[in-house]
Amino acid sequence: MNDADLVKMRERVAGLSFESRAFIDGDYHHGASGRTVPTENPATGEQLAAVTCCGTEDLDRAVIAARRSFDSGVWSRSSPTGRKEVLLRLASLIESELPTLALLDCLEAGKPVAECVNTDLPETIECFRWYAELTDKIYGETAPCPPERLSFIEREPVGVVAAVTPWNFPLLMAAWKVAPALAAGNSVILKPSELTSLSAVYLAGLAHSAGVPAGVFQVLPGMGEEIGAAIGRHPDVDMVAFTGSTEVGRLFLQYSAQSNLKRISLECGGKSPQVVFEDGIDIPGLIDEICNAAFWNMGENCSCGSRLLLQDSIAEQVLDSVAARLQDWQPGDPLDPATRTGPMIESKHRDKVLHFVREAVVAGANLRAGTDASHPGNGYYVAPTILDAVQPKMRIAREEIFGPVLAALRFRDEEEAIQLANATRYGLAASVYTRDFGRAHRVARKLRAGTVSINCFSEGSIATPFGGFGESGFGSRDKGKQAYDQYCELKTIWASLAP
Ligand code: NAD
Repeated sequence: MNDADLVKMRERVAGLSFESRAFIDGDYHHGASGRTVPTENPATGEQLAAVTCCGTEDLDRAVIAARRSFDSGVWSRSSPTGRKEVLLRLASLIESELPTLALLDCLEAGKPVAECVNTDLPETIECFRWYAELTDKIYGETAPCPPERLSFIEREPVGVVAAVTPWNFPLLMAAWKVAPALAAGNSVILKPSELTSLSAVYLAGLAHSAGVPAGVFQVLPGMGEEIGAAIGRHPDVDMVAFTGSTEVGRLFLQYSAQSNLKRISLECGGKSPQVVFEDGIDIPGLIDEICNAAFWNMGENCSCGSRLLLQDSIAEQVLDSVAARLQDWQPGDPLDPATRTGPMIESKHRDKVLHFVREAVVAGANLRAGTDASHPGNGYYVAPTILDAVQPKMRIAREEIFGPVLAALRFRDEEEAIQLANATRYGLAASVYTRDFGRAHRVARKLRAGTVSINCFSEGSIATPFGGFGESGFGSRDKGKQAYDQYCELKTIWASLAP
């Protein structure tokens, strides 16, 4: 899509109407209570829509529909090729609705429209296509057993699966859960973040049009503390696949323990290091990679490379270059095709990010670029910011900020680099930059992170599993064949061949 097309998309906003109701048992509904939750545009502070706020009555209805559809076998025991065709149709429908879906995420999350069009939507479509194609290429196994016995190990769908998702990549994070869960034959209930429900609600209608049967895919917008918690505690939900903060992820483990021991998979926060050795200084694109890791999606990114670990001898040079490059990342209107940095998701979050910066300065960090002040105007903008002279004990070096704030630390040698990189409770992603092949792999092996990129910043592809060590995750990976497997139960069938 070129710039002219993107400009046309801005004109579409005026004509956009928002479907904001829950999707339950094959149709859109206002919730039982009639309550709504406002959703706003963080670039302007204006209300976008009043979204249905589901409660426990709506959840019970959705779970009954999901269970009914699952037990009927209409999807769960349908032929894998049939499911593949439906999911491929869904991918095509998402593609044909790309401009609308991109705008919904742009308007609600403040994501730059170019990102939505060029990254979130294509990756969402690819995700549905990838799992659709996987559906009829999964084999069972047999195990060694005595000659008079026969064993099969088969995968079955888990049952009623709830996906509880965050606001930072509204549609894509939903796709990472929904696509493999549906491909495996589950009945899925999606609870999007209350801040960004519109693309999920829209997706439900597309799934229905693609031929996903009633009760197999439902969307329940609503508040985390209410409907999210009720999902976690529901006795007839078999699994929750969660992406969000570590704090809320912990709650889902408690909900499960307090209810039916439902399976829980957690994809949580991060404090990812970018480690640059002195022989990495001339790696092509180094500065762009560093900026992309730190400032992409306003730093509202679980794999955000928010800690820059620099070998002493090159630290000044790298920091000067990164600071100079910040001009490319200045905040702007997310509807402008040239914008790379939109607003923070909400005013509360902007204030939290700025508080982190101020606190770091008080603790002795040096504000090398950017600001700790609010951006003028209505939107919740924060300028990209670099803090130097950060010490490992400072909160800015340890906690997830979820904003465009890069904390720079320095190291002497490989040993200290690894020790600093691993000095975090998280372990989602890491990057290492060096020309030394042996060191790159030595360090990659020692870094406690689910994804380690060498000489680039990347989350891999749809074919590679993504998830975290430590408090970045629990019991799961998104993407890859591994994600499909987590939405399956393993069943052993043991047969006697005795005459
Ligand atoms: P969040 O934890 O506040 O909310 C996530 C979801 O949980 C939302 O749907 C929310 O409504 C729900 N929720 C909130 N409180 C709840 C409660 N008490 N009980 C049940 N459900 C509740 O996270 P967020 O602010 O939406 O997203 C940002 C977080 O997501 C960051 O920490 C980020 O690192 C993480 N994230 C991780 C990944 C990954 O793949 N590891 C990807 C994207 C985002």
